[in-house]
Amino acid sequence: MTETRPAGTTWSGNHHYRATEVLLPADLDELAEVVASADSLRVQATRHTFNDIADADAALVSLERMPTRIDLVGDRVRVEGLVTFAQLAPVIEAQGRALHNLGSLPHISVAGATATGTHGSGIRNGNLSSAVRAVEILDATGRPHRIDQGHEWFPAAALSIGALGVVTAVELQTEPTYEVTQQAYTGVAWDDIAGDPERVFGGSRSVSVFTTWGDPAHDLVWAKSDAGAPEWVEDLGGRPVGDDIHLGRIRTVDNTTPRGSVGPWHTRLPHFRADALPSDGDEIQSEYFVPFAAARDALAAVRAIAPAFDAQLLVTELRTVAGDDLWLSPAYQHDVLAIHFTWRNDTEGVLAVLPHIEAALAPFDVRPHWGKAFTMPGAAVRAALPRAADFVAAAREADPRGVFRNAFVERALGR
Ligand SMILES: Cc1cc2nc3c(=O)[nH]c(=O)nc-3n(C[C@H](O)[C@H](O)[C@H](O)COP(=O)(O)OP(=O)(O)OC[C@H]3O[C@@H](n4cnc5c(N)ncnc54)[C@H](O)[C@@H]3O)c2cc1C
Repeated sequence: MTETRPAGTTWSGNHHYRATEVLLPADLDELAEVVASADSLRVQATRHTFNDIADADAALVSLERMPTRIDLVGDRVRVEGLVTFAQLAPVIEAQGRALHNLGSLPHISVAGATATGTHGSGIRNGNLSSAVRAVEILDATGRPHRIDQGHEWFPAAALSIGALGVVTAVELQTEPTYEVTQQAYTGVAWDDIAGDPERVFGGSRSVSVFTTWGDPAHDLVWAKSDAGAPEWVEDLGGRPVGDDIHLGRIRTVDNTTPRGSVGPWHTRLPHFRADALPSDGDEIQSEYFVPFAAARDALAAVRAIAPAFDAQLLVTELRTVAGDDLWLSPAYQHDVLAIHFTWRNDTEGVLAVLPHIEAALAPFDVRPHWGKAFTMPGAAVRAALPRAADFVAAAREADPRGVFRNAFVERALGR
């Protein structure tokens, strides 16, 4: 008999899963039985999403009791089950290897993050799904598939929003380990950021801009560099903030990674430390992607309507992601500017302001972050993703019974 536990809520508590229970198979055979006997099922991983993407009508399944091997073979690492970046990174670092980038937090699962196109920043850095070289998927009949770059489903499977089946293992590209130093600066004028985004976001390996769209005293440029302190920020008037760092209106807690000193990649690329609560905790997040080439106009469009969402906003973070070829990727075939919003944890209030932002960004073929709150109708999502129909066809082939096709997938991609 497969163990179960209650489904509960997403990490920030903004979504109560409709599914009542989570099934906890202990090995691949038990997982195959769970999948083959289900009419409706989704994987619940580390729950760091802000919508119903991971929900299902009946039950969820978690890999938390399954094996979590991490095997470095040549320049690839294969990770099983519910391994998080916090678990993976030190293991490959100890063997002289690294990932090309990380998101703002290491607490999230590799399978869940790559399923939703989770990203860090950097105009030359693709999202985390772009490092996927193969995935092992259990389809809706409980049959295993290894889908590598030669497989026709690969551009759907590397960023699958959980709609192809259960990802039981992911293989990621690694590179030789490297060190990073980071610093956060105040004093860079908004007009310099929005007027010359190529200079700002191209200045270092990874650059984030935190803003509340109003008071420049709250704005921060957070640069992560291969070498020492980057001259370009100081040339723009940036001054290191020291220990007293504030990310907009997020409650100040001691949760950030060390600044002003060099360290291994995985200790500096995330903003938040693995041993601390990331971000604010009592929040909802949304994020929209526009072509980087349209960054100036898109930033002006959002700034013009900022008073409409100011009451809900804790902070905005601006980042960049390099283009890729994955069919549902928010960076499909062009580099993007990522415009992120951390909101107060007020679902009604947030859902009321999102349409204003989506309307302001509509002229830029805006794409939403799969794991965050958005209200764009499915037709608009599909119009911005030219290979959405190919994704749906691959999902139908992998899952003809529609076991993994939940309400979120139907809303975004159609029935
Ligand atoms: C504090 C905080 C900071 C964040 N920072 C960033 C950031 O810097 N960049 C960014 O892009 N996002 C960020 N996010 C968003 C988040 O990391 C992603 O949306 C990610 O998907 C979360 O993964 P998860 O496993 O926790 O989510 P879950 O909700 O558990 O899963 C996400 C999706 O993946 C599917 N899935 C998970 N595991 C499997 C599997 N084994 N097989 C098949 N499907 C699976 C689920 O069904 C679901 O659809 C942040 C979130 C929080 C809470």
